[in-house]
Amino acid sequence: MPEGRIIAVANQKGGVGKTTTAINLAAALSETGQRVAIIDLDPQGNASTGLGVAPETRSITSYDLLTGDASFRESLIPTQVDNLSLIPSDRDLASVDFEVANRPGRMQLLRRKLQEVDEYDFVLIDCPPALGLLTLNAMVAAGSVLVPLQAEFYALEGLSQLLMTVREIRQAANPDLRIEGVLLTMSDNRNNLSQQVEADARNTLSGLVYNTVIPRNVRLSEAPSYAMPVLQYDSNSKGSAAYRELAKEFLSRQFVAA
Ligand code: ADP
Ligand code: MG
Repeated sequence: MPEGRIIAVANQKGGVGKTTTAINLAAALSETGQRVAIIDLDPQGNASTGLGVAPETRSITSYDLLTGDASFRESLIPTQVDNLSLIPSDRDLASVDFEVANRPGRMQLLRRKLQEVDEYDFVLIDCPPALGLLTLNAMVAAGSVLVPLQAEFYALEGLSQLLMTVREIRQAANPDLRIEGVLLTMSDNRNNLSQQVEADARNTLSGLVYNTVIPRNVRLSEAPSYAMPVLQYDSNSKGSAAYRELAKEFLSRQFVAA
């Protein structure tokens, strides 16, 4: 698997739209015929639940992938979405930091499992809301980091901390790690602060910020409780349109970079 196609969806802040973006960007990409896999790397398992994989049906999980003998291929399960597979997570994942703290190669646990797998065009890793060992493993394994950013007061401060971590990972373990893009999420046109933060983000980060902005849309927040991506839950919603637009922009950037 060319590692340029492995993308960590990361932001140490919770509730900014990581999981929503992983699920719906993946669904929008798979709709265009891309073969996509999601690795749920958050012990909360929101991506797994949101894709209809109930906790009791999760036999092999990302915990087994990281700490055990499970291979990437055998950990994947199909979802109800065509072309979209998932490696689910469970609560065990929360103990990884502690369990492997002294193990040599603890930053490469995921990377060593993602070699030579070419059945997928894109692998999206849904990271937990922390810059701990799980997110670091994702960044070491990935070719790039996609950062959902909720337009609010402290967003840019959190982002500079994240970018610092990316630089550290480049120096320590993964020199080619790129920023895939920064995605403004839960945007509200009527909110001045939201508009100001978006303008600041574009000024500071210029080309890194996607033109596509994800609006606040109630259908996006309802879809997970129906265990499906918004593209299936309400294909004509604003949320679906936004993630289809993002997939298009995302793909056009791949061709530029290639
Ligand atoms: P994270 O994975 O970063 O913690 P989530 O993707 O789980 O964030 O989003 C946090 C909450 O906000 C969830 O309840 C989700 O359904 C909701 N949400 C995410 N994006 C939107 C959006 N664009 N509009 C409305 N609700 C959203
Ligand atoms: Mg999440």
